[in-house]
Amino acid sequence: MYTAPFEYHSPSSVAEALGLLAKLGDDAKVISGSQSLVPMMKLRLATPAHLVDLRKVPGLNGVSESGGAIQIGGMTTHAAIGANALIRQRLPMMAEAAVQIGDAQVRNLGTIGGSLAHADPSADWPAVLMALDASVRIGSARGERSLRVSDLIIGPLTTALQPGELLLGVSVPLPSGRYGGAYEKLPHPASRFAIVGVAAEVFLDKGGAVQSSRIAMTGLGSKASRASAVEQALQGKPAGAAAIDAAAARAAEGIEIRADLTGSAAYKANLAAVYCSRAVKRAVGRALER
Ligand SMILES: Cc1cc2nc3c(=O)[nH]c(=O)nc-3n(C[C@H](O)[C@H](O)[C@H](O)COP(=O)(O)OP(=O)(O)OC[C@H]3O[C@@H](n4cnc5c(N)ncnc54)[C@H](O)[C@@H]3O)c2cc1C
Repeated sequence: MYTAPFEYHSPSSVAEALGLLAKLGDDAKVISGSQSLVPMMKLRLATPAHLVDLRKVPGLNGVSESGGAIQIGGMTTHAAIGANALIRQRLPMMAEAAVQIGDAQVRNLGTIGGSLAHADPSADWPAVLMALDASVRIGSARGERSLRVSDLIIGPLTTALQPGELLLGVSVPLPSGRYGGAYEKLPHPASRFAIVGVAAEVFLDKGGAVQSSRIAMTGLGSKASRASAVEQALQGKPAGAAAIDAAAARAAEGIEIRADLTGSAAYKANLAAVYCSRAVKRAVGRALER
């Protein structure tokens, strides 16, 4: 299947890209790694009249540390994130998630900005970045704004990005104290998308009890969401296996789980509890090493 005809634009700066998007309006779509957009265009689920390619735009790629946060350019590929020394050392949960995305082609071409803008309900980055309380930097001809990832993703393939807006980068605050994070995923055997993925960031107090946690899950409902019941059940409890299992059993509470060809809602609720327990236990293990 071929795509519908479109006009191709290759801007050489962010300002030029934003100018094109402002001029072309709803008729234009940005293209980054092409891993989600091109299949959609071939299926005629997307028929943009103009494509604005970000690959030759400088300044949107790479990982750096500033202002107490890790800054990741929107065009940074999954493979580059998985291999980045700063991320592997400071935010190992992100490296863990990156290397489990799709196959080598998807990881080498697909970008973190493209993944967030696409908002697939089984994608890995939304859950991981919600657990890390990350924000995105959004640019348009009108200026820049920042939005938490939890507010960016609205539903399946739906975000708070407005026409003319570009996702410029992701800012992940560096945690402090006695913390640890981990990502556990059951990948679909064909696509590697998450049947369930659980990202857990846990903070312990000096006595080894859970001070707070952020746990986010993907693959279950119409979008990634926090496992609030688990977070509440863990708070103040000694971070031992029994307490974690009891809390994780509540993983699916409040989530409208989608039954599909990979399993019933009850099966997925059980998976959520199992993967939640695994993620929290590994996160606690990392926190105890600090
Ligand atoms: C076989 C296969 C397996 C996959 N497995 C996984 C997986 O296991 N886990 C996972 O999370 N994902 C998976 N993916 C999706 C993959 O991560 C894609 O790379 C990602 O969803 C889209 O990123 P992209 O850079 O390719 O974006 P594109 O395909 O270029 O664009 C996707 C959408 O985002 C918009 N967009 C792109 N960049 C920006 C930007 N900077 N600002 C605003 N809008 C933008 C585009 O207009 C388009 O609507 C898989 C994809 C394939 C094909």
